[in-house]
Formats: sequence, C-alpha cells, structure tokens
Amino acid sequence: MDAAIVILDHLDNIREISRWDLWKRPEPVPAPDLPFVLEESSTKGMQMVARRSIQQGELIALERPLVVSRTDIAIAEDQSTTGVFYRAALSGLSAEKRRTFLSLCNSFGSEEERLVGILNTNCCTIPLAPSPSGIPTAYSGLFPTLCRANHDCAPNANFFFNPQSFTGQFHAVRPIAKGEEITVLYSELAASRQERRAELLQHYKFVCECKTCSLPPALAELSDTRRRAIGDLIPLMHQGTYADDMTIAHLDELLDWATIEGLYALYAELLVYGYGLAIKLDLHVQAQKWSRMAAAAFKILDGADSPRLN
Ligand SMILES: [Zn+2]
Repeated sequence: MDAAIVILDHLDNIREISRWDLWKRPEPVPAPDLPFVLEESSTKGMQMVARRSIQQGELIALERPLVVSRTDIAIAEDQSTTGVFYRAALSGLSAEKRRTFLSLCNSFGSEEERLVGILNTNCCTIPLAPSPSGIPTAYSGLFPTLCRANHDCAPNANFFFNPQSFTGQFHAVRPIAKGEEITVLYSELAASRQERRAELLQHYKFVCECKTCSLPPALAELSDTRRRAIGDLIPLMHQGTYADDMTIAHLDELLDWATIEGLYALYAELLVYGYGLAIKLDLHVQAQKWSRMAAAAFKILDGADSPRLN
C-alpha cells in the first residue's frame, strides 16, 4: 500500500486519527505560483530563497507531513530497535515519497542509523489537539519541503501547524525581498549568542553564522542584553504572573527590543502578556490597544486560522 503519511503512534490513537473528518476533504495544495525556490547553498546545504518579494503575513509554503510520530518515539535513542521499526514503517510510503525522505539531510549517526538520523535532523514539533482517547499533544512532523529552510536567530518566517487542514505552513513575519533566504527558528532565541550557538551545535550540529550571531562584540553584547531581558520574562509569561515592579513602560521597552532583535513570535507573546498587565493595572485603553496588536501579530504569524485569535 502506498501511504501519503506514515503515523507512528499507539494503535488506539491511530484508529482515532484515521477517523478524523479532515481526511475526507481534499488535500490542501499550495498556490501554483510558489514564492520560493530551493537552492543548493555553498555553505549550508539546501536553502529556501524568495523568488519574488513576499509581503508580511503572506503564506509562503504549505504541505502535509510525510511522517508524524509521537515525539518520544522520534527521539528514541535505541537505534537498534527504532531503526528496524522505522524501516518497516517507512516502507509504507510510495516510492517517490521514500526517495524524497531519503534525500533529506542526516546530521546524526551513521549510514546504518540514517532513518532515525533524518527524522531527528528534520522533524519539528506539531501540536495535535488532545482527544477523549488521550492522544498526547507532543508529536513531531517531518515536512519534506519546509524542513529545507535554514535557521536564523532573527527569522523572517514562522512555522505554524494548522490542525484543521493537517498542514505545516510558513508565513512571512516581515516583508522578504526577492533573493533573500527564507529562515525559521530551530531553537530558543531569547538567549545570548553563546547559549544559542551551544544549543544549535548540540542539537543540529552547526555553528550559527547568521547576521545576529556575526555582530561585532559591542553590538553582540547589546543584542545579548536585550534578548536576556526578554528571556528572563518568559517563565513569568508562561505562568501568567507579574513582578510587583513590572510597568507598562518596561514592557513597551521590551516590545521595542523584540522588534529590533527580529523576534516576532516573542513580540506577539509580549503583547498578550502586556494586555494582562494593563488589565491588572486597570488601564483599559492600553489593554485594548495591546489586545488588537496581539491579534494582528498572530494573524501574521499563523494566518487567519490561528487558534490564538480566539
Ligand atoms: Zn544565529
């Protein structure tokens, strides 16, 4: 049988996923006039490049995954078991899709462990909605075109998984010029250059040479200061709590810094956090302003189907 998608999961979950209504609808296909091309770069393997100017918020690419796996299976380290397991699972793909899979980069392991290496190199996290049967939310998907995009510490595109159409999507978070490389984030950005590079080296086996990582020392230090200040706030943002001395002015400054650093996803999250602070301080006009700005930002990041617009 030639499968369009291989899903690696417990049998109960697969049974439930196979009953989803979305499989009865036609598979979404990208517009014929794709705004990007894939090119071989001299230093980074394949790269995604804008073949025309792209507007902020524009859908750049969309595709269904070739493989979806529970994240705890995808990152399993028992290669002797998972190698056999993956070979069996991937044999269900059509010959063309298997060829596509095998053409992807493997930054980990030997040729023997190639299948697992390809998955660990190219998979990204996708949130599947929790279900009554207890489908866990941590899944990884392998998107054969989207995974060709390289990392940048100030990425110009955002990856969004749309559960309604079961597609991975890239949206432009700022205008992208013709000829510019289209980039996404692979790791935490609200950290110093040294921390980012260490994480990227450990997980993806490369030293980031992006524009932000290549700044001269004085500017790099300034960039680190801004990113650390935003990073320090993230635990509070996740908890939805506020330090007693947190002010609107300080959040305004952090929003400016997120913009300067090109951290658009964090900029949107800061707006939501700021909205909560303004409500807490009874500043309703400010709260409305940040709420509107957050909605606009999420529409740019994820498109009109963003669950964060609710
Ligand atoms: Zn970088």
